[in-house]
Amino acid sequence: GSTIGIVGGGQLGRMLAMAAARLGYRVAILEPQADCPAAQVANRQIVAAYDDPAALAELASISAVVTYEFENVPVEAAETLAARVPVLPPPRALEVSQDRLVEKQFLNGIGIDTAPFLAIDGDSELASALQAFGGSGVLKTRRMGYDGKGQRVFRNMETGSYAGVFEAMGAVPLILEGLISFEREISVIGARSADGKVVTYEPAQNVHRDGILHISTVPAAISPSTADIARQAVASILGALGYVGVIGVEFFVLDDGSLLVNEMAPRVHNSGHWTEAACAISQFEQHIRAVAGLALGDTRRHSNCVMENLIGGDVDRLPELVTEPDVLVHLYGKAESRPGRKMGHFTRLTARPAVD
Ligand code: ATP
Ligand code: MG
Ligand code: MG
Repeated sequence: GSTIGIVGGGQLGRMLAMAAARLGYRVAILEPQADCPAAQVANRQIVAAYDDPAALAELASISAVVTYEFENVPVEAAETLAARVPVLPPPRALEVSQDRLVEKQFLNGIGIDTAPFLAIDGDSELASALQAFGGSGVLKTRRMGYDGKGQRVFRNMETGSYAGVFEAMGAVPLILEGLISFEREISVIGARSADGKVVTYEPAQNVHRDGILHISTVPAAISPSTADIARQAVASILGALGYVGVIGVEFFVLDDGSLLVNEMAPRVHNSGHWTEAACAISQFEQHIRAVAGLALGDTRRHSNCVMENLIGGDVDRLPELVTEPDVLVHLYGKAESRPGRKMGHFTRLTARPAVD
């Protein structure tokens, strides 16, 4: 079969490679770390930096299409590839989602609400922006943050001056968001095909622990209309970007059921791992179908489920977990567990009532 190129070799790349293999494709990954999760399942690995010109040329030459498994692929590298081979999702999706400011401007521009925000480029701006938000807010680096890293929460203006905060955050462009008191967090995995068809999975309800996704539960405890609005917002985002592939979009649900988008990721998403256990077509297969030009699959869910991440030493639960019926365990093949490191996940299925 033909080869699908994947930039990045982490667990998401690994699970994409597994789905691709099942549909008969070969997979080549570009990943500087030789001993990466995806290396164990890919047919071929180019061990080089993501922006290495020779490596990009090689990946383009052996691939029918190139995709990626993380949102911080350098846009220039994606464009270098795109000059030689289709790159999906389109590099524009990377541009938008790599910068929290650009992302929120894009979302607001297509009529989707977010937390209020202000760009911050120094301590004095922080003081006045916090004042404008009534004394509370979440300060984030505009770029490169994940798992809650590069964030600082201010409540009721905390005492003291803001001297040094900008430095302490790395003296990089920042964004201050209003501190949202949400009722819950949900996310929606969506996919769009090259011919413009869109599918979305049911929203998952997410709980974080130490800034890292801990548990996703489906169905989420939200009304059908809130679920529909979230899924419709994802469809709008996909259309506006001329997107092809899977996207993950995180939302805050407010007391009145209204929604704000927190952020989006132009890739398969941790909060969509439940789909491999509770749906016939997982988010990973859905992504491979989309970028390979196959028809999208049905997103129906046959079971209720709870997905839990195995972080650090949690992975020691493997022997016990495999004794449980209706639990699908998925480990990423990482040699050492470290605190905060995602080692795997499991999904516990329960019967779906005839009427939800
Ligand atoms: P991810 O690992 O999902 O990419 P991230 O590092 O990009 O995470 P965010 O998703 O922006 O970070 O924030 C992490 C969590 O912090 C959110 O899921 C939410 O619980 C909380 N949070 C973020 N922004 C806000 C906000 N403006 N108001 C209240 N809580 C927030
Ligand atoms: Mg993020
Ligand atoms: Mg997030």
